Amino acid sequence: MSSHIAFFNFPAIGHVNPTLGVIEELVKRGNRVTCTVTEHFVPAVRAAGAEPVVYESVFGEFYRSPYTAEANAGEGMRCLNDATSLVEQVGLFYEKNKPDLIAHDFMAWGARFYAAKNEIPVVRLFPSYAWNEHFNIQERFPLAEFTDPQVMDMIGKLAALLPEFGLPADPMAFFQGIEKRGIVFMPRTFHYDGDTFDERFVFAGPCLGDRSFQGTWRPASPDRPAVLISLGTAATGWPEFFSLAVEAFRDLTDREVVIAVGDHLDPAELGELPPHFTVRRHVPQLDVLRHAGLFVTHGGMNSTMEALYHGVPMVVIPQMNEQRANGLRVEELGLGRHLAKEDTTAQSLRAAVDQIANDAATTERVRAFGASMRAVDGPAVAADAVESFLAGRR
Ligand code: UDP
Repeated sequence: MSSHIAFFNFPAIGHVNPTLGVIEELVKRGNRVTCTVTEHFVPAVRAAGAEPVVYESVFGEFYRSPYTAEANAGEGMRCLNDATSLVEQVGLFYEKNKPDLIAHDFMAWGARFYAAKNEIPVVRLFPSYAWNEHFNIQERFPLAEFTDPQVMDMIGKLAALLPEFGLPADPMAFFQGIEKRGIVFMPRTFHYDGDTFDERFVFAGPCLGDRSFQGTWRPASPDRPAVLISLGTAATGWPEFFSLAVEAFRDLTDREVVIAVGDHLDPAELGELPPHFTVRRHVPQLDVLRHAGLFVTHGGMNSTMEALYHGVPMVVIPQMNEQRANGLRVEELGLGRHLAKEDTTAQSLRAAVDQIANDAATTERVRAFGASMRAVDGPAVAADAVESFLAGRR
């Protein structure tokens, strides 16, 4: 049966990307899919077959952060302001186009407000770690302390606001509450305490969709495996890393070194480089990973999943809590190396890359992990989870 499913996303590239494959699948099955997005994501969701419902976000075109302690502590208030503003901006559209179900990013609190007020069933999407009674990333790898004045301010404001949407004035219940259905965009085997997640959670894996809107990338020479280097799309403020990477790989001429500098610097600032280097602001990452032998990454959840899916070992240099959790998990599972930012020099980076590149056991484990991920049709698993939940509500 065809339904109207509204995706309320969080305006970060790493949060929208894993939903694209699911949207595509739900549309293919005859559903109407609408998506609340900033202008930046309109081409991506249109390519997936959804109708964009455009709003202006507190975060600008998409989420970016220097990940300083100050910025991290302020994230909760920014999320809250974005949530209330989202509800105001898309309320009229959804009043006229009432969805049967809202699929919402775990950070898109506006979806929870809107759904509670209008009694619409929800499925929660986890492009990062989910939480249950046993595991909560905020406890094991805190982004900011609950006692920080900025966090306390946000909690006070949230407590006052929740009853307006018919929710209990209990911020902790709001943060720790578990929905009847959650979809997690990673395999259970990667998740910390994965075995403790019961049938409320469906592990769909990365759900890679069509990214042709990004253009394509082909290696200059197919027999020279690429080393991809990227700190993702959200982080800003570590331009020195890229000069250091150039120094580390200047003589690695039997590889193609592909660097995506994001918003850390202008690629021209790296100056004249040897021909085995390609430097861009952004690259079509899935295309590059198809030809890559190694990935030096900040360890964003998508980058981590995409690398594993393509069987590419990683050296993970995290900048914030979730990435650190990923880097440590990658190392724990024998899928690559974790390198702390403060320990990163041209020499330590090169040594880590050389070690992983020459480690047959890691290569084999990553290959097997990738094969197990590719054996799952993530978008179909996620779409089934949405549709079966909705069918049970009718
Ligand atoms: N990405 C890309 N090109 C780039 C850098 C990143 O296509 O040059 C994509 C990447 O494939 C991933 C997302 O952007 O899907 C980044 O998400 P991730 O969770 O890895 O990190 P974040 O940017 O959120 O820190």
